[in-house]
Amino acid sequence: MRDPNPLEPAVAVRNLRREYRRAVAVEDVSFVAAPGEVLGILGPNGAGKTTTVETIAGLRARTSGSVRVRGLDPRRDRAAVRRVLGVQLQNARFHDSLTVDELIALHRSFHRDPRPADEVLEMVDLHAKRRTRFERLSGGQQQRLAVGIALVGRPEIVILDELTTGLDPTARRRVWQAIESLTGVTILLVSHAMDEIERLCDRVVLLDRGRVRAEGTPDLLKARTGAPSLEEAFVALTGRRPDEDAEDER
Ligand code: ATP
Repeated sequence: MRDPNPLEPAVAVRNLRREYRRAVAVEDVSFVAAPGEVLGILGPNGAGKTTTVETIAGLRARTSGSVRVRGLDPRRDRAAVRRVLGVQLQNARFHDSLTVDELIALHRSFHRDPRPADEVLEMVDLHAKRRTRFERLSGGQQQRLAVGIALVGRPEIVILDELTTGLDPTARRRVWQAIESLTGVTILLVSHAMDEIERLCDRVVLLDRGRVRAEGTPDLLKARTGAPSLEEAFVALTGRRPDEDAEDER
């Protein structure tokens, strides 16, 4: 098995393209995430965000272009990539009849040096639910468990797709604190929530219709567009609000 190369960028995407029979989900996307960087991936609905991050996670094949995680191909070198990459997907599902404790134990067993279960429970505030089966958790609790499970293996790179969508304000803050407590971890954060992006992200890549529309710090995007807020900068650059449904013209 090939090993992750610490000298390579955490994540490097070059000219990524993904076509489906009736749609081009990603036209042409390139970006690099530096070690320890929290990189926001934002864009209107249908921009290609989930396709891009699921390709980085090795869960979708690409039509063309290259994707590397510490120099490895997420599809060819899947097992090695899994050692360094943690993934929380939109609407993640786990085995319904297993409890929180059992699911964490199962995922700990996949890793060489997993976080202690108590630490994971603490990070996502699920101590009180440890003996509850997955199917009996609320949507927000399921979401928090998915975040915890993404962090079980002490990943050096984490993909978080819709980190706090559907969580109440207290739970959101708790999850943000957990993310902020990670040091030196590279994070790709897909989000529609501009307050979350501004709080957590060092830099953002703004996707629109399968292409990179803009890239830079939130402050740079605001300065470039003369917008008072990141949300207004988003509107100026894409013509749509962050949570507006796309009428797909592609
Ligand atoms: P959202 O913010 O709504 O989650 P997104 O930016 O994550 O959107 P994607 O889910 O990556 O966007 O989808 C990009 C485009 O590709 C959309 O037009 C979508 O309909 C299309 N698409 C995604 N997956 C498939 C698929 N499996 N088959 C066909 N088309 C797809």
